[in-house]
Amino acid sequence: MRQTFLPFSRSSIGKQEIAEVVDTLCSDWITTGPKVKCFEREFAEAVDAPAALALSSCTAALHLALVSQGIGPGDSVITTPMTFCATVHAIEQAGARPILVDVEPGTLNLDAALVSDVVRDLVRSQEGKSLKAILPVHLYGHPCEMAPLVEIARRHRLAIIEDAAHALLASYHGRPIGSQLACASVPLLTCFSFYATKSLTTGEGGMLTGLPETIEEARLWSLHGMSQHAWNRYSEEGSWRYEVVRPGFKYNMTDLQAAIGIHQLAKQTCLQARRAEIARQYNAAFSELDCFQIPSNFEHVDHAWHIYALRLWPERLAISRDQFVKELAARNIASSVHFIPVHLHPYYRDKYGYKPDDFPVAHREYQRLISLPIFPGMNDQDVDDVIAAVAGIAGKYAQNGNAVSASPLPARTGRRARVHLVPSTAGEIGAAARRAFDVTCAAVGLLILSPVFALVAAAIKWDDGGPVFYKQMRVGREFRLFRLFKFRSMIAASPASTPIAGPGDPRVTRVGRFLRDHKLDELPQLINVLRGDMQLVGARPQLERYVQVFPDEYRALLQDRPGITDLASLEFRNEEQMFGPGSLDEQYLTQILPAKLHLALKYRRARTFLSDLGILFRTVLGFKSPSMD
Ligand SMILES: *Cc1c(COP(=O)(O)O)cnc(C)c1O
Repeated sequence: MRQTFLPFSRSSIGKQEIAEVVDTLCSDWITTGPKVKCFEREFAEAVDAPAALALSSCTAALHLALVSQGIGPGDSVITTPMTFCATVHAIEQAGARPILVDVEPGTLNLDAALVSDVVRDLVRSQEGKSLKAILPVHLYGHPCEMAPLVEIARRHRLAIIEDAAHALLASYHGRPIGSQLACASVPLLTCFSFYATKSLTTGEGGMLTGLPETIEEARLWSLHGMSQHAWNRYSEEGSWRYEVVRPGFKYNMTDLQAAIGIHQLAKQTCLQARRAEIARQYNAAFSELDCFQIPSNFEHVDHAWHIYALRLWPERLAISRDQFVKELAARNIASSVHFIPVHLHPYYRDKYGYKPDDFPVAHREYQRLISLPIFPGMNDQDVDDVIAAVAGIAGKYAQNGNAVSASPLPARTGRRARVHLVPSTAGEIGAAARRAFDVTCAAVGLLILSPVFALVAAAIKWDDGGPVFYKQMRVGREFRLFRLFKFRSMIAASPASTPIAGPGDPRVTRVGRFLRDHKLDELPQLINVLRGDMQLVGARPQLERYVQVFPDEYRALLQDRPGITDLASLEFRNEEQMFGPGSLDEQYLTQILPAKLHLALKYRRARTFLSDLGILFRTVLGFKSPSMD
């Protein structure tokens, strides 16, 4: 066990920051001056923002963003309960009403589908006119699904104010958070935090980014509403005369803070890379253990990894989250919880009469969240110590994983249909027999196919020398993530912008082409069957981002393990050829996946052991199994 206590976070302030602060102290400017200007310019460049305004905090940035958009008493703003209180406070401070909308179970970010429902209901009840903005939080540094939110905002003429306190250097579809995300039709303002624990710190501080005219309006509000900037009031060319045109705030950043910020910004890319590396090591270690759900990380985003929030599976551990925190502390590891949902705090609970289950996902997930230390100053030993401590506690308190029938499925709001999960006794016996059959087949299959495995491995190595297997996180039974195995058929460092291969995809290697044509790339999933992640016949496991689009369908399908093959896989075996020109993702989501899900649900209701056997035979004889996922 570690001898010294590992703190939850530690800032990375170096000699350059210290020297710059001393330089500032010795200069004529200590408050808002040339260093703030420089910091604003460099920050805007770093996140590709049209303009930036340095402020005293992110809370100030949020408040200013709302006020400068004209949002005040009588207005309302949609936001998430899964955030730090400052997000919602800013709305209250502006005199507006926060409307909380639950989060989606994967990223714990604002659920765009629910936002859409809430907006529709508001518009119907004539309260739509009071709604002025959506305030999403890029929780932990994982960007929200912005496209549908932007579309809702465009349709209803709402502003979007992003709480990017965690999301410095995060990006969405290749666009940095803080840039305009190519949504010219919607006012978009982004708020960053430089609080002591944040990735970039100035002790206290914040930044607001947006279009130049938006930022200039906010700038007016940020410093007493004075029409001329204070810092040239006292300079040679400045004048003593100024006009007050707004009842403004005192939210300006000082040159002392900017002096730190300039150097913190210069090394953010390095610091960020270290955070991502620690997250990678955590993910690799914790996804091997049954007691945990690792954080979501979609392929179309770059995660800033400000916070590493692991989730415990309560039915697989004999101790609670709170006890887990204590056990870690006893092993000299600090941890935390992000966040206590806003609606549970007395002020909001009492003012709006919230019940814990008004936001069921936020409430349920909160109870199993635990944030582990992730800061750039951690060395490899520190990371290993955290992994060893977490694994040690898991080993000590692990429980038999069969007691999962009571496990929480990601239920949405009460308005949606829920699926009942009580299995009959006959169903249980059937399931046990099926599992025994699957395990036997997979074991025998692996044994018989071992020469094929050896040949394929040799061919891949001969082709380009890269890794033999390709592993990817997929959503399994009861929405647990697991690692799916395939033979690698694409070039090793292929950009993962889309996981879907269209006709003639240049990422597919020579050997990969052969493997894919004969569906041999899927064979390693027999290992997934043995490990209990999958069954032989069942709906194909998907990436989390696809599962999210069809929550109701997957709530039914993922009561079972996902499968290697099924009816939909056979029907769509030539899927690669079904794509036309244009976005593969979009075609997959709007045409192919809905049809597959329809088939899968139909088959699930009618399936028998014999029909499964039929599918297995058709798959093996035609070497035809699912092509894609
Ligand atoms: C830290 C934080 C804030 C507040 O930032 P300050 O700079 O301390 O005002 C707001 N929102 C979230 C999500 C945060 O984590």
